Amino acid sequence: MAVYKAPLRDMQFVLNELFDAPARWASMDATREVTPDLADAILGEAAKLSENVLFPLNRSGDEEGCQWSQGSDGFATVKTPKGFREAFRQLAEGGWTALSGVPEYGGQGMPKMLTVMFDEMLYGANSSFALYPMLSNGCTLCIASHASDEQKAMYLPPIYEGRWCGTMCLTEPHSGTDLGIIRTKAVPNGDGSFAVSGTKIFITGGEHDLAENIIHLVLAKLPDAPPGPKGISLFIVPKYLVNADGSVGARNPVNCGSIEHKMGIKGSATAVLNFDGAQGWIVGEPGNGLAYMFTMMNYERLSIGIQGLGLGEVAYQSAAAYAKDRIQGRAATGAVAKDKVADPIIVHPDVRRMLLTARAYSEGGRAFACFVGEQLDLAKYHADAKVRAEADALVQLLTPVAKAFFSDKGFEACVAGQQCFGGHGYIREWGMEQLVRDARIAQIYEGTNGIQALDLAGRKVARNGGQYAQVYFAQMHATLDALKGVAGVEAELAEANRVLKLLEDTTAWLVDEAKGDANAIGAASVDYLELFGLVTYAWLWVRMMAIAAPKAQADAFYAAKLLTGRFYFQRLLPKADALAAQVKAGSQPLMAMDAGLF
Ligand SMILES: Cc1cc2nc3c(=O)[nH]c(=O)nc-3n(C[C@H](O)[C@H](O)[C@H](O)COP(=O)(O)OP(=O)(O)OC[C@H]3O[C@@H](n4cnc5c(N)ncnc54)[C@H](O)[C@@H]3O)c2cc1C
Repeated sequence: MAVYKAPLRDMQFVLNELFDAPARWASMDATREVTPDLADAILGEAAKLSENVLFPLNRSGDEEGCQWSQGSDGFATVKTPKGFREAFRQLAEGGWTALSGVPEYGGQGMPKMLTVMFDEMLYGANSSFALYPMLSNGCTLCIASHASDEQKAMYLPPIYEGRWCGTMCLTEPHSGTDLGIIRTKAVPNGDGSFAVSGTKIFITGGEHDLAENIIHLVLAKLPDAPPGPKGISLFIVPKYLVNADGSVGARNPVNCGSIEHKMGIKGSATAVLNFDGAQGWIVGEPGNGLAYMFTMMNYERLSIGIQGLGLGEVAYQSAAAYAKDRIQGRAATGAVAKDKVADPIIVHPDVRRMLLTARAYSEGGRAFACFVGEQLDLAKYHADAKVRAEADALVQLLTPVAKAFFSDKGFEACVAGQQCFGGHGYIREWGMEQLVRDARIAQIYEGTNGIQALDLAGRKVARNGGQYAQVYFAQMHATLDALKGVAGVEAELAEANRVLKLLEDTTAWLVDEAKGDANAIGAASVDYLELFGLVTYAWLWVRMMAIAAPKAQADAFYAAKLLTGRFYFQRLLPKADALAAQVKAGSQPLMAMDAGLF
């Protein structure tokens, strides 16, 4: 069976030993009150919630799924799987729905460096369930950043309290990646509100029974809007209108036409929403809708990446437990379990390859999530404008890497974990096939991983001549230089420096190539992103190994860290050279074939 224990020890290692998060928190006014004790208590309680409340609902939620039905009032309702309502109440009552919210409106203002750990636990324990609070978080973030004070006061407190939820309504049947062509219209009502009409599809948490009200953030076009992305504005459209005293009022005409029947995350309601002149209120300025949504997207994309990370961790834990228990064949070096008819499969090198692959990506990913979380905190809270600007450059650069690399490697980890179970991994009752199905979506939604790669290689690297990348590479060099002379990681340090140089050279090549070939970015982007991710993990792994090396003799945690790091350098990182060669092959091998020949 799939098993899950929140990886608290490793989370504490990343927070305290790798990044010295308490010192970081103490250095900024907004996070000064986050003490190590408070952080430990939050992680400890989050672990209990995810292990004891959410994980037990994971399989039943998958089996049962969500149920759509037509209500007597003409509006459809969606019932979430058994236990989800009670679990959501527990989440709300425990204050978890307010964890990263703005304190002025009832949020707890916890730093992202810490909340990425909470997100990982939630996704690991129950990805379908996790999406309800995650989308609500994204919605509040967008409102907190761009809405009027009046709108903030009206919508933020009830969502933080978990009485209401939020959604993000971008996609339409003909418009997914290309949002510039959306057709949803918003016509002024003459009283400051707008009548919003159109169909949105694939809306996560678009309709459900977990909350009294659902606040939809909707992209739509004003009647006189210019074509393309500049014509898109953002609207708040509540499921139930909100009375002046904050209570829930009349039903707004937003109807859930159906919910999707899909490959995974079956406990998450993915809704078709029909807006039929629904009353909405514009957020900020007309024409800025997409830009406002992007505020939310940097957080959402990191969060969706963390879905892959969380699921990869569960797959690893489940497969490791199984591999110690399942007996098949004998070790190549002679019987290990002599009292049994066969040895546990963990004796076989190939099973170890699968386990270590999942583990190395999981631990590397946890460190990277925390690093990106730290940059989000610095960009938001640091007193020094220069620090904020540098951190913001890193957030811009690294968000697509985190989203795509976490979800790609998380999916790989789930498949590797499933493979360790052999045929049993394919059978429902073992729970491994669910992990594979649930992880797959993270590579697709919130902008496909192909689009993340284009964003990295095109907008974030080539179009600004590699400026963001220079900020990042300089930081990487500085930290690597500081490791010179650390005993026990000499070979890995040399290798981390070598692949960093490889990434720098490949980046320079790509920036140059893009000047003369319009297809250069599109052709190279996915391989370039993977190279970027692998080198980033090498940078983080050697730092983790340097901490572990002096303590490895005396403590099994550090010994395992060191060995997993060595595996990463020797068995996963060599792919970086192949990827650099793939990038430098250019666009010709892809574009040479006429479309008619496909
Ligand atoms: C379960 C689920 C939940 C979702 N939740 C939400 C939600 O809450 N809110 C919401 O608004 N949306 C949501 N989505 C929509 C999701 O974000 C989109 O499906 C996704 O962004 C891709 O859009 P599309 O499906 O229209 O694919 P398309 O845009 O049609 O893309 C098809 C393929 O072409 C590629 N492609 C497209 N354009 C380019 C290009 N310019 N260059 C290179 N390749 C390109 C894509 O990478 C993809 O491989 C959800 C989807 C699913 C399945």
